[in-house]
Amino acid sequence: MNIPAYASKVFIGGEWRAATDGGVLPLEDPSSGAAIGEIAAATVADVDAAVTAARASLQGSWGELTAAERGRLLARMGQMVAGEVESLAEMEARDVGKPLKQARADALALARYLEYYGGCADKFHGETIPYLNDYTVYTLREPHGVTGHIIPWNYPMQIIGRSVVAALATGNAAVLKPAAEACLTALEFARIAAEAGLPPGALNVIPGTGIDAGAPLAAHPGVNHVSFTGSTNVGVAVQSAAARNTVPVTLELGGKSPQLVFDDADLDAALPFLVNAGVQNAGQTCSAGSRILVQRGIYDSLVSRLSERFAALRVGPAIDDLDVGPLISAKQKSLVSSFIDRGRESGLKVAAEGALAENAPSGGHYVRPILFVDVDPDHELAQQEIFGPVVVVIPFDTEAQALHIANGAQYGLVAGIWTRDGARQMRLAQQLRAGQVFINNYGAGGGVELPFGGVGRSGHGREKGFEALYGFTTVKTVAALHAKGTD
Ligand code: NAD
Repeated sequence: MNIPAYASKVFIGGEWRAATDGGVLPLEDPSSGAAIGEIAAATVADVDAAVTAARASLQGSWGELTAAERGRLLARMGQMVAGEVESLAEMEARDVGKPLKQARADALALARYLEYYGGCADKFHGETIPYLNDYTVYTLREPHGVTGHIIPWNYPMQIIGRSVVAALATGNAAVLKPAAEACLTALEFARIAAEAGLPPGALNVIPGTGIDAGAPLAAHPGVNHVSFTGSTNVGVAVQSAAARNTVPVTLELGGKSPQLVFDDADLDAALPFLVNAGVQNAGQTCSAGSRILVQRGIYDSLVSRLSERFAALRVGPAIDDLDVGPLISAKQKSLVSSFIDRGRESGLKVAAEGALAENAPSGGHYVRPILFVDVDPDHELAQQEIFGPVVVVIPFDTEAQALHIANGAQYGLVAGIWTRDGARQMRLAQQLRAGQVFINNYGAGGGVELPFGGVGRSGHGREKGFEALYGFTTVKTVAALHAKGTD
């Protein structure tokens, strides 16, 4: 894969340019640890220029478009992304380290987001409200203006789709700050937008570090809405910075999502979901189903079947398209490994580990998937987001106990319920603290149409689906009192 020349540039006002300070950051292939190029290191001056360009586009060619014209442009971009799925997938696999088939699913999801939100653009509108006689009252759904998007490295294409694309569909002008660890497909997205004819300044992309580019974007007084996806601690900092400008914030943060498996569950159906939800993208997934709660009657047999599957998982370079790729960085590997070490040292039982492919380069950031069983719900491995291929299994006896354990973490992003009992499904769906609940499935293939977001330490606000359009707009109420007719 060739790294495009603009990989080391920022994209502002429709132009590729070097970061204002001329700074660059190394670009690494997580599968080998090798340096493969450089990316731009945007700083406060670039943030400022991007916000200014976004504002100008709102007052110019982007702001003048009709909703239908915006939708058509996004739909065109969707077709272009769909036509480039293989090259985008290869780029993402190389940059993030995720196996090709997972990267391909992300590229397809981005195409689908563009199609979906392109279709929504001219179907999202205000309401008329019955009020006092002689009044006509209606609401206008208006874009916030300039939206800032700070995103992580784990699913760049999917997160661009659900955040930036929804913001554009509703007429905002976007400034996107991708993560320094993986920003290539964000730059490709800018290239495709320009080729599709998106007016200059409607989309600006400024790669860089969190401190030098993310923090100034969150704090910029010209930004009218901030969408942040990332860790809870940084989310708190972003919300605090935005609060000084009294602008709304969407926070898509971490998770420790439970899957509850009852004695009557269809285990053949559940098994592939249970394993995949824990190790997809090497466990670096906010909605990873990393806590499996299992009822006592099937505990031993399910643990044995899960162990068999974990032991069969193969880990290796992204391009080899095995079950699991490397982690994003040496830092992430060391973080995850220290969780695993502490788990072992505390006496936790390891039921199975995956295998590392023989050809995996020694400089790659590989961690073998690991299954801990008989874990106490209060153990740090059952409470903290690990962001690696680490799954814990916790036994329970009753539904009440399962619910108590499931709701016993600070996070509340996603939950899975595996049971054939319809009443139990409905009861638990109501009682689980989560933004999404899956019944007899998990993750549901990306769920472009399905509102997504968390409660508690998992954040607030919703992206994905039609619901996202509410978050990226503000409501203006217009109340008109009619004078009495004179004839
Ligand atoms: P992170 O919080 O370190 O970084 C996320 C983004 O914020 C990056 O672009 C980073 O450069 C930027 N950033 C860092 N410090 C900043 C600061 N002080 N001000 C402004 N921006 C700053 O997260 P990460 O390690 O890149 O990603 C992993 C985390 O993201 C996990 O906790 C995961 O659960 C979460 N995540 C959540 C979702 C979701 O939808 N809920 C999706 C993906 C990832």
